[in-house]
Formats: sequence, C-alpha cells, structure tokens
Amino acid sequence: MKIILASSNRGKVKEFKSWMSDFEVLTYSEILKPFEIEENGKSFKENAIIKAKTIYEKLPGNIILADDSGISVDVLGGIPGIYSARFAGKDASDKDNLFKLINELKKRNIKKTKAYYTAAIALATPYGIYTTHGFMYGDVISEMRGNNGFGYDPMFIPQGFNKTLGELADSVKQGLSHRSKALSLAKVLLKTLV
Ligand code: IMP
Repeated sequence: MKIILASSNRGKVKEFKSWMSDFEVLTYSEILKPFEIEENGKSFKENAIIKAKTIYEKLPGNIILADDSGISVDVLGGIPGIYSARFAGKDASDKDNLFKLINELKKRNIKKTKAYYTAAIALATPYGIYTTHGFMYGDVISEMRGNNGFGYDPMFIPQGFNKTLGELADSVKQGLSHRSKALSLAKVLLKTLV
C-alpha cells in the first residue's frame, strides 16, 4: 500500500520511512513542489488533520499520513507544546528551538524537570479521516547530550533511562516514542483499508 507523508521534516520522515518498511512510503514533496501549510489548529490533532486534508486535496484518492508533534514541559505550563517547531521563531531551526528551551530552564535554575512528547497522526483517506495519538514521558535537562534523533532529543531523558535520546540508539527510541506509538495504532487502521 502506498502512503504519502504530509511532512518534509527530515527527522520525522527518516523515522516514518524506517518504521514503515511494510508500506511503500513517499513524502508529498517527492510528488509536488513543497509549499507551506498554515498550522492554525489549537491542538496537535487539529494541526495533523489540517496537514493531512491539505495534501489530500492536492492528491485525492491517495492515503495521506500527517503527524503533528511536540514537547511539553509541565513546570513551564506545557510550553512549547504545539509551538515546538516555531518556539524560537517562524523560521527557527531545530537547534535554535533546543537552545531556547535549554535557556528557559537555565533562567529558572532548573537542571532537570518533567516533560513529555505528544504525536497526533491523521490519516486522510478515500474513506474519511482517522486520528491516533501517542505519548512519551520523561525529563528534560538544561544541557544537550548526544547527536542521535532530532529536535529536542538531545535534552530529553525517557522515563526509566539515564541517557538522553541523543545518546540512545534509534532502535531504543523506536520502542518508546510518541510517534511510534501513534504509528502502531495508525497501522492497525491502515491495514483495514486494503
Ligand atoms: P511539527 O512538524 O509542526 O509537528 O513540529 C514538530 C516539532 O516538535 C519538531 O520540529 C521538533 O522540534 C519537535 N518534535 C516532535 N517530535 C520530536 C521527536 O521525536 N524528537 C525531537 N523533537 C521532536
């Protein structure tokens, strides 16, 4: 079954392609000229649906998979949350966002505090829209360690570990991650569509 990803985020695309080897996975930018999708939803789920529907309208009849995800820090009132990709500004890089979150912790003299990742996946299909969620709990620290993963991974220590996702192997992240949990549920739905 061919699945089209409504994302050009390199970190996400790499994970989806490696975790969906049982499907034929393309990114929409391999078919269409990449364009900006305005994510004006109020939740991860709303934004995932916006992305999936936008690409479906351009590629009707296909199965489109969109992910909206981010990290929430409890002690900071849940920020950056749905604004994770643009925490340090509209065109911020992953590193800019990571350093901004580290700085927010440093300003408050926090070395380690609770945080969690959320992923919402939306599938836009000829039969309708379906959504799933996944979460990963742990702590963020006020420094970066390791270079694996992407985004906020070098400052995130998953529950039950003492290393960051930047230091842990990709296969470990796959077993724990918000995205892989949401994807396992999405795969159950996908398998009912063939
Ligand atoms: P989106 O593309 O609008 O969903 O933004 C997702 C943003 O959340 C990314 O740019 C990262 O900053 C962050 N994020 C989401 N998932 C992960 C992850 O698995 N690791 C690290 N950062 C992530």
